[in-house]
Amino acid sequence: MKEYDVAILGAGPAGLAAALYTSRSLLKTIVIEHEAVGGLIITTDIVDNYPGAEVGSTGYSIAERMREQAQEAGAEIAMASAKSVQALENGLMTALSIGEDILSKAVIIATGTKHRMLGVPGETDFRGKGVSYCATCDAGFFKNKKVAVIGGGDTALKEAVYLAKFASEIVIVHRRDALRASVSVSKHASQNPKISFMMDYAVKSINGDSRVSSITLEHNQTGIAEELAVDGVFIFAGQQPNSDIFQDIVDTDESGYIITDEKMQTSASGIFAAGDVRATPLRQAITAAADGAIAAYTAEQLISDI
Ligand code: NAP
Repeated sequence: MKEYDVAILGAGPAGLAAALYTSRSLLKTIVIEHEAVGGLIITTDIVDNYPGAEVGSTGYSIAERMREQAQEAGAEIAMASAKSVQALENGLMTALSIGEDILSKAVIIATGTKHRMLGVPGETDFRGKGVSYCATCDAGFFKNKKVAVIGGGDTALKEAVYLAKFASEIVIVHRRDALRASVSVSKHASQNPKISFMMDYAVKSINGDSRVSSITLEHNQTGIAEELAVDGVFIFAGQQPNSDIFQDIVDTDESGYIITDEKMQTSASGIFAAGDVRATPLRQAITAAADGAIAAYTAEQLISDI
């Protein structure tokens, strides 16, 4: 079993900021990531609300710099899934998918969120065959094609604007008659001539043979169903916390987000949570990074008291 001062689960802005701060405090730090270093921000095209970022900065470029800074400060990054966290007499043990376990004095959970699925027929079958959850990743496959974007939040509308660089037509389908997205993001999308809206429609199914060819929609007021011919469906129905494996060791809210105090301390001693996975009023890269710095600071205080 390898021993560290701090084990950080998740290498998004929260985890990488925490790693930068713990490493700069000379704490032996490992960051464990199971998918892509950088987290969800790497699927964002242009990031224009991170203070100090260069004009035209992409989510990927910001995340890459965060990774470099954490590693330059001395943090290790390991590719593996955390399977569980358990309190032992001499510390906290994180069991990893690669067979090797980590013993640490503190654990910072920064595992972020995952895409919420619609749960309609065809969604899983056509994933990668016309169904996507990432415009930055897949927009290039839909040049001069018609696509539907599902959702009325900031992500849906921003991604629709990005898709408009590639697709010939984008129909935003939203389940209510009012958008959730902010006024500025909504205005930007509604001014794009390639983008139209179908408001107050529920998606009933995603259809096709080998690939998506249409979606079936039902109007919430009239109950009338209609089929919309599309080549692709981009789903942006919000996020769910990656907190399943922690449910038995830390308190969570009714949606599964981890509850912390203002110092990022969870209900379990030595275990902190930071970023999108915790119950917080704002989920942005800047708040995630700030959470990571606070969690690192509190972890350092705890370790120095041991
Ligand atoms: P979100 O704000 O939770 O929006 C999710 C959207 O999906 C909502 O419009 C929701 O409808 C819809 N939805 C949820 N479940 C659905 C279902 N089963 N069927 C159909 N539609 C469904 O999520 P988000 O857009 O990913 O944004 C997450 C956070 O990141 C927000 O705080 C947002 O402000 C922030 N963000 C900010 C920016 C920016 O540039 N400032 C960019 C991206 C994201 P309802 O509206 O009816 O609930």
